[in-house]
Amino acid sequence: VREADIRPADLFNRYLALSEIDAQRLLGTASDLVAVPCPACGDVECDLGITKLGMAYQLCRGCASLYASPRPTAAALDDFYRNAESVKFWSSDFFRLTAEARRERMFRPRARLLAEVCGEHLQQADLVVDVGCGYGLFLEEAARLGTFARVLGIEPGPDLAAISRARGFEVVEKAVEDIASGEVQADAATCFEVLEHVFDPLRFLRSIAELLRPGGVALLTTLTSSGFDIQVLWERSKSVFPPHHLNLLSIAGLERLVARAGLTLLSIQTPGKLDVDIVVNTVREDPAIQLPRFVANMLARQDEASLADFQEFLQRNRFSSHVQLIVRRAES
Ligand SMILES: [Zn+2]
Repeated sequence: VREADIRPADLFNRYLALSEIDAQRLLGTASDLVAVPCPACGDVECDLGITKLGMAYQLCRGCASLYASPRPTAAALDDFYRNAESVKFWSSDFFRLTAEARRERMFRPRARLLAEVCGEHLQQADLVVDVGCGYGLFLEEAARLGTFARVLGIEPGPDLAAISRARGFEVVEKAVEDIASGEVQADAATCFEVLEHVFDPLRFLRSIAELLRPGGVALLTTLTSSGFDIQVLWERSKSVFPPHHLNLLSIAGLERLVARAGLTLLSIQTPGKLDVDIVVNTVREDPAIQLPRFVANMLARQDEASLADFQEFLQRNRFSSHVQLIVRRAES
């Protein structure tokens, strides 16, 4: 997988440009911003990490998570995700044009992984629910496996919910936080790249736990500030962009968050494949960028094999910025 496959530079930069305009609009009303403690561990002690487009990202002293604070209120974010131009661009042009690459490289392997996790941990897995189902690609790939009796999407965005419905799937058109206790009782839940966007990750994760029957499992992915490309590029990282990405939690922070949500962490890994490619592409766009000496030296060699080897090292040692968690709800 290459960065250009799933987010071609021209499309991604157009998306970021729209996001910048949206951010100015949303963050311009500073009176609506609210300060929050670390969304991962709850610590209030922090230092200013990055300021970008007028949004302050704090670095938690307790767990080293990077998080936007003060941040737009939950209501302002809800409105943003319904109406903002960058959100519309993402769900129309961006996702549509990269959908098939994403299906093959991202969603098909995820569906297989979920089936494996269910096979390992559950006696039966009838109902699978995908939180933030978007285009319905995961639902399609999960249904195609034939191992689950029923797949259900949860999607608060009306346009995206309609797309998943048009593909023949049942969709609950709500934010997961608004689903009543007991309304959904799933054997397994998935949630890909949503955690970094939400106002309150703890409440969000507790809501996912509520969807699960006792003993049920969930597979989640998000971005982590512990990862290589974010650590190296820091304020230049395209993963640090308001108002979309509010929570770039560290590995330690994610572990704390899972425990606070009352879930058991079965595994936390960083299977990301793009860190080195992202840094290489950022340098290509801006050759004047200052990199740590070691990283500049490594890239200057232009040795594909050693870079691939380094990416594997990042994966194996939880140093990639793409993190995957498998969690379980207690039996009783
Ligand atoms: Zn923290």
